[in-house]
Amino acid sequence: MSLFLHIDMNNFYASVECAERPDLDGLPVAVAGDPKKRHGIVLAKNQVAKALGVSTGDTVGEAKSKAPNIVFLPPHFDRYDRISKRMFGICNRYSCFVEPFGPDECWLDCTQTVHLFGSGKFIADSLRENVRTELGITASVGVSFSKMFAKLGSDMKKPDATTVISEDNFREKVWPLPAEDLCGIGRRTSEKLHRMNVFTIGDLANTDERVLVRAFGKNGADLRRSVNGRDGYGVREAVEGRDVKSIGHGLTALRDLETQEDINTLVYYLSELVAARMVKHGVNAKGVAVHVRTNALTHAGKQTTLSYPIRSSADIAEVAIGLIGQVRGTLPLRSIDVSVFMLSPAAAPRQLSFFDGAECERNERLDDAVAAIRLKYGKGALIRACHAAQDIFCDKNVGDFLPFKR
Ligand SMILES: [Mg+2]
Repeated sequence: MSLFLHIDMNNFYASVECAERPDLDGLPVAVAGDPKKRHGIVLAKNQVAKALGVSTGDTVGEAKSKAPNIVFLPPHFDRYDRISKRMFGICNRYSCFVEPFGPDECWLDCTQTVHLFGSGKFIADSLRENVRTELGITASVGVSFSKMFAKLGSDMKKPDATTVISEDNFREKVWPLPAEDLCGIGRRTSEKLHRMNVFTIGDLANTDERVLVRAFGKNGADLRRSVNGRDGYGVREAVEGRDVKSIGHGLTALRDLETQEDINTLVYYLSELVAARMVKHGVNAKGVAVHVRTNALTHAGKQTTLSYPIRSSADIAEVAIGLIGQVRGTLPLRSIDVSVFMLSPAAAPRQLSFFDGAECERNERLDDAVAAIRLKYGKGALIRACHAAQDIFCDKNVGDFLPFKR
């Protein structure tokens, strides 16, 4: 029988900040972008603020009206990175099979190691204790024979709690939960399920497989198997060396993107983030994809495959801007997502096109030089001129921002 744990650090950003500020104990605290800016947004809140109704995504003004004595702190992403790495390190004491799911949560496959520790519950309790004493942060842990149930378990009791979901109790513990609590069920799927009279996870487990396949294809059958406790998913082993299939970054702009110049500004920024991660993974890409959302909340996407692999931010940006031009229509844009796929090892020899090759290599040398300078003098040491005075996004290295990362 398999044994999975899922650990989730509670109120991550806010917890990291509060761990450094014991004087704020008992006060409502939120991590937010610059509170002086109109668009300052709550990125995370502590338990006290949560109890007063403050939500992630509230503006600073909204949060203040719910909790007048709330303390706003600016985000420190370098700290979150550091704590995140330490949490994964703690997890590795109990298993080498650790699969991250965001900076503050991951699965552990303890099937092979549970006999060393006694039980899944013992591992979960020790994990929480280690995280609490070493990092000063509470975490919730789910323990189960299935990966999906372990994740549900870590969500069921918060903060600082262990929930065990066994073969004997999953029907009574999991089945009464709403179907949208399942990882991967978004608004559209849940609306579709409701129309089929499926509201709880138990409803889903007891729906005829053929009905689900008709509505959702193969995913419907997989989902049904999962909620009956037979997901058969494993934990991916390597934290660092995991095979990446695509690399992407997206950002919701702080205001509508009205002009081509606005779009270019954001695309160049996203392309730099993508290119930096490609270097980290040592890959080139032949595929570039964009996804845009307009201010009327309509979506559009487009992708292309090049005849040769690229890796410089300028090349990625140029292709992405071309793709956006083909899909954007006339409405102002609100968010842009740039990603690359069809990745190949950067070390592999490649055939550059006769006309673009020299330009490509020049752009790559430029990226390498910029990266070297940033490594030595800090990420803010060198920025593109178009990023020096813009009001479209807040640089992660500078302050307020709203990223999503895949
Ligand atoms: Mg969390």
